[in-house]
Amino acid sequence: MPKAKIMVVEDEVLVCKDIASRLRQMEYEVVCTVGKGADAISMALEACPDLIMMDIHLRDEIDGIEAAETIHRRMDVPIIFCTAYSNDETLQRAKITAPYGYILKPFDNRELEINIEIALYKHRTERMLLETEGRLNTTISNISEGVIGTDRSGRVAVMNPVAEMLTRTSSAEIRGMSIRQLLELRDFESRGHGIDLKSTVLREGKSLRDVRQHLISRDGSELPVEINAKPIPGDGRQEESIGMVVCLRDISQQLGYETQIRRNAFYDALTSLPNRTLFLDRVGNAIFRSRQRDEDRFAVLFLDLDQFRTVNEGLGHGAGDHLIIEVSRRISYVLGQADTLSRFGGDIFGVLLENRASLQEVMETVEEIKSQFNGSFEINNRIIDVSCCIGIVISHEHYHSPEDMVRDADTAMHRAKAEGKGSHTVFDQDMYTRALRYIEWRDEMQRALEEEKFELQFQPIINAEIGKVSSVEALVRWQSEKYGAVPPTEFIPVAEESGLILALGRWIIENVCQHINHWKKRYGVELKVGVNLSAAQFDQDNLALEIRQILRAAGVPPRMLGVEITESVAMRNIEFSVDTMSQLKELGISISIDDFGTGYSSLAYLKRFPISTLKIDRSFVKEITRDRNDQAIASSIIALAQALDLNVLAEGVETQEQHRYLLGMGCDFIQGYYFSGALDSDGLVPALQSKGLLDLPENVLPIDSTPPRQVG
Ligand code: C2E
Ligand code: MG
Ligand code: MG
Repeated sequence: MPKAKIMVVEDEVLVCKDIASRLRQMEYEVVCTVGKGADAISMALEACPDLIMMDIHLRDEIDGIEAAETIHRRMDVPIIFCTAYSNDETLQRAKITAPYGYILKPFDNRELEINIEIALYKHRTERMLLETEGRLNTTISNISEGVIGTDRSGRVAVMNPVAEMLTRTSSAEIRGMSIRQLLELRDFESRGHGIDLKSTVLREGKSLRDVRQHLISRDGSELPVEINAKPIPGDGRQEESIGMVVCLRDISQQLGYETQIRRNAFYDALTSLPNRTLFLDRVGNAIFRSRQRDEDRFAVLFLDLDQFRTVNEGLGHGAGDHLIIEVSRRISYVLGQADTLSRFGGDIFGVLLENRASLQEVMETVEEIKSQFNGSFEINNRIIDVSCCIGIVISHEHYHSPEDMVRDADTAMHRAKAEGKGSHTVFDQDMYTRALRYIEWRDEMQRALEEEKFELQFQPIINAEIGKVSSVEALVRWQSEKYGAVPPTEFIPVAEESGLILALGRWIIENVCQHINHWKKRYGVELKVGVNLSAAQFDQDNLALEIRQILRAAGVPPRMLGVEITESVAMRNIEFSVDTMSQLKELGISISIDDFGTGYSSLAYLKRFPISTLKIDRSFVKEITRDRNDQAIASSIIALAQALDLNVLAEGVETQEQHRYLLGMGCDFIQGYYFSGALDSDGLVPALQSKGLLDLPENVLPIDSTPPRQVG
């Protein structure tokens, strides 16, 4: 290490020379020697020595002490006074300049060297300490946590700006303040007494890691904080610590996130309703309770809006959200305290109805929920009608898991969907079987449709008065390679649920047209065909338009086509039915109400339907000659039809007795095995002819021709 650079201030020239030469002997570098106070100041600034030897008495206006003072103010350099005077007053004055040494003349070399080396060492150490302290201070002031340091008795010694902010106390105020006074803490959960930092950390020497507490600030407000604290170990000779460091972190934002995360895990963000997870949990609890106590019966509903896609796609997602919120508000309105409404996502809601002793009680609530959809919804200044389909599951001892119950409610809901808008269905075991079958059949049917494996048969309908065929009903058949002959009562619902019914329905009407044309061409007969329309087909927005296009393309006049709609489908949504039926009627298509008597028709509504025929359901025909009730029902249907000027058809007529009886009651048309079952297109006309049910025009010769190719 190079030897220090020293400046000598001494007005006695000889003394000055002597000191300088002694210093050089000691291998210090003497950067300059001056005799006046003023020169000392200017040269110090210029030469930047590592140390100054300063004589106090100078023959000048500025003496050594004054010069030292000025130099000190301008630069950081250690100064050693060397003087022959050591009176108290001089010492006192010199002390103020905090000199690094004071050496009395005359002094020997050893004394001089020791003084210089100590001064240089002291100055270096001080500098290092200052630097370290500066670095520490900058770090602590810029740390994002509050940092508080105490002494060994727990009095606050230092505090950074963040701690000042969190405790609402400035560093100027902490003098003499204990840590207990500065940090008033409460337990995080109980809000009782908080942790005692002094006894825990200082006395017991424990460290704290991420301890959550509430910090009570001076204005009484509470702030959730996380505390880390550590004792500062003593120098090793004493056991006890010499203070502690306490770090505080404001966690109010973090708690907000935590709550949010917890909420997101169990609640739907849009509606704030419980989500699927929480719903399943509550259903699980309900199952558990009902297993403990048989009386605790409950139900699970699955609810799906019928028009959500239209709203979402037509009016935008904002409107969709708005609708969901309004729906959840309306449903909540009719539910009890113990019930749970949950949103599963999209437009699917789950409802848990607790304490419903009977199916009737459940159905009352279902009706109340449905009644909430009676009034229109105002979304984006538009009035829209919204309905929903509901699947219902009643608690049963065979349910062990909430997932099973929800699955069955879902199945029932899909069943309801197939029945049409605004329907509801109670789950039964058949549905489960159907649901399983659904998955198997769906793909098989899709393939059958693509490969044209469906076929049509036609069953004649006889005009009772003249005993001749008046029209035929088209009945679809599916001979599956995998499942054999599957009856339409089983595969039509699957087609409905999978949405395949629309394509299948179209295929049926197209093929019916081909057959009508074929019979006309081949036999010269015009046979009118009735086609069954399922719920989903009837709900199609553009049904009349689509039928018109098919008829046009085939060149078949609309009067040759009739449609059959079951009573229950027709009665679901009266306005819609009246509207759709009117469009069909306008097209020239006649409409029959199928399976009449099995639903709940309101006469007032029936009057508004532009229909031509009521088809008495075959269940009433079966025992008509014996069963008084069936007779009463049949005769009132006939009376009703007469009053409304409608035709009546009896289906499922199998015997002569039934035929006679129904004729006597005044039925206009008869359909059933008594006359004929359903026949292939090919065999139909010859069979009708041979039974005397159809007269062929004279000019048409029965010639062989191939049946029409079925179109896809
Ligand atoms: P539906 O429209 O009431 O059809 C009459 C059903 O009664 C037919 O059964 C027919 O074969 C049967 N039937 C006819 N005469 C008698 C009889 O004297 N005694 C008895 N016991 N039954 C008789 P099928 O073909 O099994 O059709 C059942 C149901 O499937 C139909 O009832 C209809 O709702 C539906 N369906 C049939 N074909 C189609 C179709 O092409 N499209 C649609 N959407 N549904 C269809
Ligand atoms: Mg029918
Ligand atoms: Mg029928």
